[in-house]
Amino acid sequence: MPERKPKKSDTQDFVSEYIIPDNTRNFDRIWILLKEEYPDVRPFLNYSNPLEMLIATVLSAQSTDIQINRVTEKLFKKYRTVEDYASADLRELENDLYSSGFYKIKARNIKAAAQMIVEKYNGEVPKTMEELISLPGVGRKTANIVLARAFGVVEGVAVDTHVKRVSRRLGFTKNSDPDKIEQDLISLARREDLDSISMTLIYHGRKVCQARRPKCKICIVKDLCPSSIIFIGSN
Ligand code: SF4
Repeated sequence: MPERKPKKSDTQDFVSEYIIPDNTRNFDRIWILLKEEYPDVRPFLNYSNPLEMLIATVLSAQSTDIQINRVTEKLFKKYRTVEDYASADLRELENDLYSSGFYKIKARNIKAAAQMIVEKYNGEVPKTMEELISLPGVGRKTANIVLARAFGVVEGVAVDTHVKRVSRRLGFTKNSDPDKIEQDLISLARREDLDSISMTLIYHGRKVCQARRPKCKICIVKDLCPSSIIFIGSN
């Protein structure tokens, strides 16, 4: 049984009460099983060009992809170019983003990012990590997603809440900071797998390794997962 920490640090994630032993030696075996389980991973967000990919990904923070797809269905019909966002009335844009959550800050960031794209990047969504993360509201997670999905450029691993949780439970990382988790995953995975590792862990996190009640008993990697004993033992 993994050693228990003296303090509960994160009530959202039961397993964070425990020190999960390093399990990186089993990364390759686990990755093979997960790839077989989720052979056809696809993005959940709807988009048809790099600008829409960028907007949808910025909006997806603190929201669900289903909700963002509802918002962007109307949004992308109303705002068709980067100039449309750059010149948008902020109050009107806030209103259009209202149901995405945190709509005020998202509207402000999207308008400011669009203005920067117009002024600094000739109206084209930039294609490098450095340029993308210079845009307001864009961190490495968003930049990795945009680079991979919109431009086919794989720089790293997009670490969202599912990737973070599943990676920690599987013993691939002890870190909490998404940028450090990304580096840990990069050091474990082969370069050609970097593109799919994020989506695969997201699928597994949504379908099986859910935050509150992971379905360890039916999990394809339970025999290799150091956290399974915690959850199965607690049921
Ligand atoms: S065994 Fe449980 S904790 Fe481990 S990856 Fe599977 S669902 Fe998650």
